[in-house]
Amino acid sequence: AKSLGKNQYCVYNDGMGVKEVRRMEIEKDLQLALENEQFYIVYQPKWNVKSNSLYGFEALIRWKHPRLGIISPGEFIPVAEETGLIVPITRWVLENACNQCNAWHEKGLTQPVSVNLSTRLFQTSSLVEMIQDVLGIMKLDPSLLELEITESMVLFDINDVVQQLHRIRSLGVRISMDDFGTGYSSIGLLDRIPIDALKLDRLFTEDINTPKKHAIINAIVLMAEDLNLDVIAEGVENHDHIEQLTQLGCHVMQGYFYGKPMKVEEIKDWINNHNT
Ligand code: C2E
Ligand code: CA
Ligand code: CA
Ligand code: CA
Repeated sequence: AKSLGKNQYCVYNDGMGVKEVRRMEIEKDLQLALENEQFYIVYQPKWNVKSNSLYGFEALIRWKHPRLGIISPGEFIPVAEETGLIVPITRWVLENACNQCNAWHEKGLTQPVSVNLSTRLFQTSSLVEMIQDVLGIMKLDPSLLELEITESMVLFDINDVVQQLHRIRSLGVRISMDDFGTGYSSIGLLDRIPIDALKLDRLFTEDINTPKKHAIINAIVLMAEDLNLDVIAEGVENHDHIEQLTQLGCHVMQGYFYGKPMKVEEIKDWINNHNT
C-alpha cells in the first residue's frame, strides 16, 4: 500500500479506520466487478479414498480487483449479502459452474460440481426459479449440480426454507450441508432438511488426534450412514488426517493434500495426474 502521509493518517484516525475504508471500497466496486468480468471461479476436487476416484468439484469464487488484487470470498461475500448483489453474483457462479461442468461432462467426467449458496438467498423470492432457469439455459443434467448450504438457515423461517429445499431437490439437484458441526443445532436440522451429504467442518480435521474429536466424528459418520448421507471431510492437509479419517469411516476428502482450488487450466493437469 502507498504511504498515506501524516495528514492523511490523521484523517483516517478521525473518521474511519483502514478496515472501514477498504470495506467501503469493496462495496462501491462490487457492482462493477460483475459488469467488468473481474470474478473467476476456482475448482477444488473432492476425492473418494475408498474407490480411489474423483467424487466431485467445488466451485469457489475469486475476485481480481484492479487495485486491491485478489480479494477472498470470505471478505466480499458478506458485503454482497448486505447489498443484495449476492443474487446476481450467485447466478453468475451457477451459470459458469454449470457451463464448465457440461464441458467436463463432454470430456467424459461424470462427477458433479457444487456451488455454495448463501443463506440470504433463501430470503429472496426467486431462488428456486433462478436454479431452474440456469439448469434450463445451460442444459445441464440436474444430477450434476450440487448446492452447498449451511446450518445458519435455522435463523430464518425454517418451514419456508425446508419447502424451498424440497422444491430445489425435486429438480434433481443434490444438496449438501456445509461446515457441519460448527453452527446451530445441526443434528435437529437433519430431521427436517432434505440433504444428500454432510461436509464435516475443517475444525474436526484439525487436531484430529484427540479422543473427543474421534468420538464426535465417529458418531457423525455412524449417524450419516443410517441416514444414507455421504460424509465429506474438509481441510484434509496431510497423511495423518487421511489415516485417522479413514479409520473413522470417512472416505471422501477435500483439502490441500488432494488439490488446492484451481483454475480450469490447472484442473486439466490435475485430472491427467490423477487418472480420472
Ligand atoms: P467453504 O465453502 O467452507 O469453502 C472451503 C474453504 O476452505 C475455501 O476457502 C477453500 O479454499 C478452503 N480450503 C480448502 N481446502 C483447505 C485446506 O486443506 N486447508 C485450509 N486451511 N483451507 C482449505 P475460500 O475459497 O476462501 O472460501 C471461503 C468461503 O467463502 C467458503 O467457505 C464459502 O463459504 C464462501 N464462498 C466461496 N465461493 C462462494 C460462492 O460462489 N458463493 C457463496 N455464497 N459463498 C462462497
Ligand atoms: Ca462449501
Ligand atoms: Ca465448508
Ligand atoms: Ca466455511
